[in-house]
Parts: sequence; structure tokens; C-alpha cells
Amino acid sequence: MTQALTEQHHDVSQGQTMRRALLHGPHDLRLRDERRPEALPGEVMLRHSAVSVCGSDMHDHHEGGTGPAAIKAPTTPGHEFAATVIGGSGERFGLPDGSLVAADPAQNCGHCEQCLAGYPNLCPNVRFLGSPGVNGGLAEYVPVPPHSLFAVPEDSAPALTALPEPLGAALHALDITNIRPMSGVTVLGAGPIGRMIAQVARVCGAAHVRGEADVLEATICPDAPDQAAQVARIGGRVTLVGIPDGDRFEMNAANARRKAPIIKMSRRMGQIYPRATELVSRGRLDIASISTHHYDLKAVTHPKRSVPTM
Ligand SMILES: [Zn+2]
Ligand SMILES: [Zn+2]
Repeated sequence: MTQALTEQHHDVSQGQTMRRALLHGPHDLRLRDERRPEALPGEVMLRHSAVSVCGSDMHDHHEGGTGPAAIKAPTTPGHEFAATVIGGSGERFGLPDGSLVAADPAQNCGHCEQCLAGYPNLCPNVRFLGSPGVNGGLAEYVPVPPHSLFAVPEDSAPALTALPEPLGAALHALDITNIRPMSGVTVLGAGPIGRMIAQVARVCGAAHVRGEADVLEATICPDAPDQAAQVARIGGRVTLVGIPDGDRFEMNAANARRKAPIIKMSRRMGQIYPRATELVSRGRLDIASISTHHYDLKAVTHPKRSVPTM
């Protein structure tokens, strides 16, 4: 997983400007100098310290969007980010200056049927930072509401503090798969999400895979859901997490009908940040190995470095 880190801040005129990355369309990521934003009442001003590049960012970068959510206006990517509280803006929310925080990018409405039923990850009105049309964290300064921020221990590495978002996606996928202790689990996909799912499955008590298993699919391959159904145990569970290239996937009907697995689509996550940050801070996962490449913010427009190879 590639991460952009800001080590040196770009102060053009006494700190009044900043750099922001903007995705204009497929393979068109640019850096812009602009006026630093100000925190509105009820917002906390953050100075970014690390942003991870997600598979959905890669779809946006390569295809100009993820499914029907297309980039129509230049948008700052970055929904997996860690940052530091500055300017006294977090004091009244219990976040003193210098606090390192993980930011939850999902701002659900809180009053729709799905939110009220306890499924904020399915909120149709969600405002998701870093998705097409909503600026995310790949800028030097970002104002964020305090309820979206989760403080982490002071000695946490910023690069790891950006990872509770994808880790939350892994936790959610396992939650809805209802992994049973010492049951078999197969994970398709060895990208960051697949590797996190495999690690958390072990923490949940999954045994090594021996034959029949429940399956979690976390790839970009349109035929991976079919493979998942092929290797699933009869009557088992198949959870689809990945976003397929081309926004379509395939599944052989006869196999799926005969095995009759419970097939679920995993959509983002609910209120999982506290659990995700706890897992990281307690050292229960080898999360550091997920973070493979670090670049300065200014490198995001470098044609080779802006697209990680995983
Ligand atoms: Zn993500
Ligand atoms: Zn809602």
C-alpha cells in the first residue's frame, strides 16, 4: 500500500497557502497551491501527516470513477488519512494541539432509515471524504468535524494511523461473514484488504484452511466471485469485498445453486474505528507490513510514483 506523507510543509506566505492534490480525470492528478482553509465552528483543523492509497482510489485514478460515482469536477482524493490537530481548534472537543488522529471519512446523515436501523455504512446520503465530488485528505490542511476523529496514542506512527479505515473494511467484512472459532477461512486476494482480512481472521480464531471454508473475496478480478463460490463449502458463506475492474463480475449459476452459499456484499463499515485503532495500538496485527511505499505529497504527480504497484 502506498502512502503520501507530509514531512515538510509548504508555506508560501507565512503559512497562508498550502498544497492540494486534485484528480481531474483518469491519470490526471495535479498539485495546486491554494489558500489554506479555515475551520468552521464545529470543525477541527488538521495538518495531514499520512494518506493511504486505496483500491477505490486506484479505480478513480485509472477509470475516472468507481462504478457510477464518476469524477465530474476536480476532487482531492484520500479517504484513509492520519493528521495532527492544530490551531487550538480541537481544544473544546478534547483534542489538544498536536494530537495525532485517524479520520473516519464517512459522514452519514444520521436520520435515514439505514442510519436509524444501525447501518450507517448503507446510508444513501453519506458524504464520503475523498470520493468523487467530495474533497479528501490529500492536502496539507483539512478541516474535519470532531465526531469523525479518533485520537491514537502519541507514539503511534502516522503511516499506521492512516490504516484504520481499510482495516475497518476488513473488520466489517469479517463481522458480516460471522466467522466461527476454528472454522476454515479462505481469502482471495493478497492486496492490503485481503491481507488484513487474513490477519484479523486469525485474531477471530479462524483455523488454517483445511478443505471446506467460508470465503472472503477481496480482489479486483471480475471472475473472483465465481472462484469464491467454487472453493466455498456447501452451505457456507461468501463475502464479496473487492471492487471489480469494469464494475461487473461473474458467477457460475449451477455451482452456486448447488452449494447454496450465503452470499453477502460488504459495503464499507459501521462504527468500527475504535476497534480498528485498538487492534493496531495493541499490536495484535502486523500492520506495518501493509505499508510498503512512502512518498512526499509532491511526488503524487510523478507519473511513475503516483500509481503504486501492488
Ligand atoms: Zn479505502
Ligand atoms: Zn443516513
